[in-house]
Amino acid sequence: NSTIGIIGGGQLGRMLAMAAARLGYECVVLEKGGCPTRDVCVEQIDAAYDDPAALAKLAERASVVTYEFENVPVGAMEELARHVPVYPPAKALSFSQDRLVEKRFINEHGIATAPFVPADSDEEIADALARFGGRGVLKTRRMGYDGKGQRVFDGKTEAKVDGVFSAMGTVPLILEGFIDFSCEISIIAARSLDGSVAFYDPARNEHSDGILRRSTVPSQISDTVSAQAREAARRILNALDYVGVLGIEFFVTKDQELLVNEIAPRVHNSGHWTEAACAVSQFEQHIRAICGLPLGATSRHSDCVMENLIGDEIDDLPQLAQKPNAVLHHYGKRQARPGRKMGHVTYLKPLGSS
Ligand code: ATP
Ligand code: MG
Ligand code: MG
Repeated sequence: NSTIGIIGGGQLGRMLAMAAARLGYECVVLEKGGCPTRDVCVEQIDAAYDDPAALAKLAERASVVTYEFENVPVGAMEELARHVPVYPPAKALSFSQDRLVEKRFINEHGIATAPFVPADSDEEIADALARFGGRGVLKTRRMGYDGKGQRVFDGKTEAKVDGVFSAMGTVPLILEGFIDFSCEISIIAARSLDGSVAFYDPARNEHSDGILRRSTVPSQISDTVSAQAREAARRILNALDYVGVLGIEFFVTKDQELLVNEIAPRVHNSGHWTEAACAVSQFEQHIRAICGLPLGATSRHSDCVMENLIGDEIDDLPQLAQKPNAVLHHYGKRQARPGRKMGHVTYLKPLGSS
């Protein structure tokens, strides 16, 4: 049996399935309703991620199961793992689903993060904010992505915390100190079944409205900071006994201090450039890792800039296709909506070209 089960049917699942096909694997996707991944899979199981019958079916069809989305229920994955190997391990999910648990875990492994405190009432938010000099980012502990579920206190306007806890949905929150970073970077790391690790070059990431806009490689950070990012990634991979690809986002402070922002136990948007500028993409790397194949080369044949095509920007694809150095990727989503990631383009500058 060489069938891979993928939980989650977004563009990441689709790109994983496309890479899997090239290596001779078929994929089954578990996702409710229409999704971009199903066009490239042999079967879609149309159900919720924690539907017991659907998970039983997935375990029967697949020889290994992975996920493209970190908010799948941990308990369901632990149960599934009793019947079929599930990679990355459920432990990685439980750490990355809750920003408080995640930051404590990272700090326990000797890796720095922004300062943080749990804040579960208006009073606690006010106290925590005072501790951080009036500047911070309030986030829901769970389920946030693309900057959703966040509120920035910039210290310029007087912070109004009355009613904030309920305005944020009366859910557990974390307040992080505001980091005046000089830049944001990420590293895409991989660990195989036999414990060997590989790292792609760090990318410099720019966001707007909380959404990743652009990733640039090389990132222009120093070799020292780059080595620190790899070392942090190595520790996290080993601590989780990880199998697969992991994305780690960092802030680089003005003093060249490296702080982990968050980890994603999956292929990552800031690693999409690897598909165009590396021999082996993060997607192929993930499939190799979870299928017990050796990891592939992470070296880069080109410098590059990856830009997300968000909402209506996908309509620019025909014009972008005229640029000789542009590698295009359309996710096959039927409907563009504001803020929705619809595709990406990677501009290449081959190494050694002037
Ligand atoms: P993703 O889509 O990457 O999962 P997310 O919703 O989990 O995003 P974060 O990565 O926590 O959100 O934050 C989004 C962006 O907001 C960061 O990339 C950074 O630009 C900014 N940001 C987050 N936390 C802080 C902080 N403590 N200080 C300064 N800026 C921050
Ligand atoms: Mg996140
Ligand atoms: Mg993020």
